[in-house]
Amino acid sequence: MHFVSLGKTEAIGASCYLALIDNTGILIDAGADPDEEGPASLPDFDMIHKRSDWHVDHVLVTHAHHDHIGSLPVLVRHFPHVRVHMTRATRDLTDFVLPASARLQRRKLQEGNSIHAPLFKEEELEEHRFLYAPHDLNTDFDVTGLRGQCEITARFYHAGHVLGAAGILLSWESEGQTRRAFYTSDTNQHPQSIVPGGDYPEPPVDILILESTLGADSDAELTTRKSEEKKFADALANVLARGGTVLIPSFAFGRAQEILALIHRFKELERIPFDIPVYTAGSMRAFADIYDRTRFNTPRLDEEFRVFGVDQMRLPRKPAMLNNALQGPAIHVAASGMMFERTISNDLARRLVEDEKNAIFLVGFAKEDSPAAQLLTAAEQGDDAEVQLDRMKPAQPVRCEVQRFRFSGHSHRRDLIKLVERLAPKTVALVHGETNARTWMAENIRFFYPDIRVVIPEEGTPVEL
Ligand SMILES: [Zn+2]
Ligand SMILES: [Zn+2]
Repeated sequence: MHFVSLGKTEAIGASCYLALIDNTGILIDAGADPDEEGPASLPDFDMIHKRSDWHVDHVLVTHAHHDHIGSLPVLVRHFPHVRVHMTRATRDLTDFVLPASARLQRRKLQEGNSIHAPLFKEEELEEHRFLYAPHDLNTDFDVTGLRGQCEITARFYHAGHVLGAAGILLSWESEGQTRRAFYTSDTNQHPQSIVPGGDYPEPPVDILILESTLGADSDAELTTRKSEEKKFADALANVLARGGTVLIPSFAFGRAQEILALIHRFKELERIPFDIPVYTAGSMRAFADIYDRTRFNTPRLDEEFRVFGVDQMRLPRKPAMLNNALQGPAIHVAASGMMFERTISNDLARRLVEDEKNAIFLVGFAKEDSPAAQLLTAAEQGDDAEVQLDRMKPAQPVRCEVQRFRFSGHSHRRDLIKLVERLAPKTVALVHGETNARTWMAENIRFFYPDIRVVIPEEGTPVEL
């Protein structure tokens, strides 16, 4: 298998890989770089046009996060004949995620918050829909290309990351032997609150293409979900008991639904009072609806659980009612998770931050320099250190409680190393992680399993796996 990354590889970036197997071209994921805008956020699709022996027959999309699906419409424009394969739930999510992304890009340009023309328009997405082929988990489907010299089958495995997320197993015959390559995509081996832990193929595989998101995070492996849940429940109970309002900035797809399920469980177990009002807002409600609609045909810890079964109110817009909703005790779950400017969580944070009764609990990754990371830094300094959550507004003293909890949708690095042992590959290719994360992973795999070949693919440089 020739394997090349079309997105940058020194950071998370846009997930997008081309796998060439005996003249079949399979593109894995079509992400956009969340740290970039406009053309700079795209994988380098021109790289494929420049090489006469490279082409794309099939596209496999692992899940509906922006860094895995955000450039799909542009990819289809480059290669209009492709067939795009995904799980049924990812297919449902795609119908919401891509039009929402088109609208956001248009709005940013109109409001002068971006200089880039939208990469795609809502109307063209309608035309792409017939290219999308939905598949069940654990079911083989054919991905042999027109010029393919051997038959190739693909199969999706539940990845345990978010709704619809899947790892991919590719199988083909080469020189009389069956070869198997498994791409984990973003994966979590342990159950969250709604989504159970991932499933993986029977060992051994020949090639393992492994994500490395938490490869440089030494703290992640020291916390267990159980201890983190206890810490979270105790902290919530404390703030609510003193009549405070808790803001939980959450990524709208995945984390917000998992957090709501957790709050529901805390109420049922009487860890927090049952009558505390919970407010939700924005697109997380649309994602919740898709979680609920798919609950009987996607992996669940409890298929009876509905996100909208959790008692919640829509955050009011009218100022007087909003003020009322912010009077504690109350819980607000709002996007964005990093509290970017002009988002609901940023607005709410500015309203809550100066009152010591309140709390802002961060439950996801906070990129350096994001408002969420700045808030954490200011809170650690203490003494009313100030934070400027919106560059157009004045700085404010941080008086509310600020805490960070670890509820990652990814496996931590020691678990990823255990997955290597379990799948017993001959070759591991490390992807989707910062350079130091992939270096830690490589060193540890080489140390524990010296017979395994470890490859660190670099953007645009093909490797033979
Ligand atoms: Zn993801
Ligand atoms: Zn990802």
